[in-house]
Amino acid sequence: MNDRWIDLHSHSTASDGSLTPKELIRYSATKHLRAVALSDHDTTDGLDEATGEAERLGIELIPAVELSAEHTGGTMHLLGFFMDRRHAGFRDCLRRLQNARKERNPKIVDKLRGQGLEITYEEVVTASGGGQVGRPHFAKVLLRKGYVSSMQEAFERYLKRGAPGYVEKFRFSPREAITAIHGAGGVAVLAHPFTLYREPATLLEPLLSALVDDGLDGMEVIYSTYSDEQSRYYRGLADKYRLLPSGGSDFHGTHKPGIDLGVGQGRLKVPFDLLEPLRRRARQYRVSQGTSDA
Ligand code: AMP
Ligand code: ZN
Ligand code: FE
Ligand code: FE
Repeated sequence: MNDRWIDLHSHSTASDGSLTPKELIRYSATKHLRAVALSDHDTTDGLDEATGEAERLGIELIPAVELSAEHTGGTMHLLGFFMDRRHAGFRDCLRRLQNARKERNPKIVDKLRGQGLEITYEEVVTASGGGQVGRPHFAKVLLRKGYVSSMQEAFERYLKRGAPGYVEKFRFSPREAITAIHGAGGVAVLAHPFTLYREPATLLEPLLSALVDDGLDGMEVIYSTYSDEQSRYYRGLADKYRLLPSGGSDFHGTHKPGIDLGVGQGRLKVPFDLLEPLRRRARQYRVSQGTSDA
């Protein structure tokens, strides 16, 4: 049984997606998705707007977030699903990450200006539409001004780690991020594990094992850019480490060209079946913490 398709990884204008939360839900309806997780970076601010529209259109909205965690060598992103977004400790964590972005963003502007690029913080904020500012917004401004000819080129030349416009930002350790998600009654899922390392992953298994010790619940085994072989590989690792399988497109609208909601690069399919085990795990956390089921 599949009982239709879902997408457990997407971004709105609350962070670095190009559709508003409401537009994202409407777009989910045109894709006939049964459930969609709005997983903005470091914020749950889009969820209120999305909730009403999801109810109206009969789509299940999964409250979610994407957090960056400390990791050397590559990029670690953790998705949280089903948190109570009013939880005080969780809100404090998000505020800290949001403040870190506010400190970092003007420094990126300075570095880009140091490269001779005419860009202002106001332009970047305008490009962000008022949500959390991220590197794709800098890329958008550079693209609009003709300094680069694609979003990808903006990252390669200026914004990726090691490039002249890159600035580090504060991150929680994986354990801290996972604990914050659990504390708010959510499940923690490792996003796009291939970004952890540049080379195929001899170091991935020890890291996964450590993350499981930190409380990791699941791993993204279905993702827009995976080949069939990668999907099989990550599914095998999830089975081996008893991680719940998750999947999503990582849709960012025009900020990530070529990746569409629900279908990724065209071949993505995330079955509804994946959702229930994640939901059950979140319920277990809530019961064991004595918090209410939302
Ligand atoms: P930030 O959270 O501000 O560091 O920005 C991270 C976001 O930038 C990611 O979620 C991606 O959407 C985007 N991103 C990071 N690296 C690249 C890249 N090499 N090419 C295109 N987009 C990227
Ligand atoms: Zn993003
Ligand atoms: Fe990510
Ligand atoms: Fe993402």
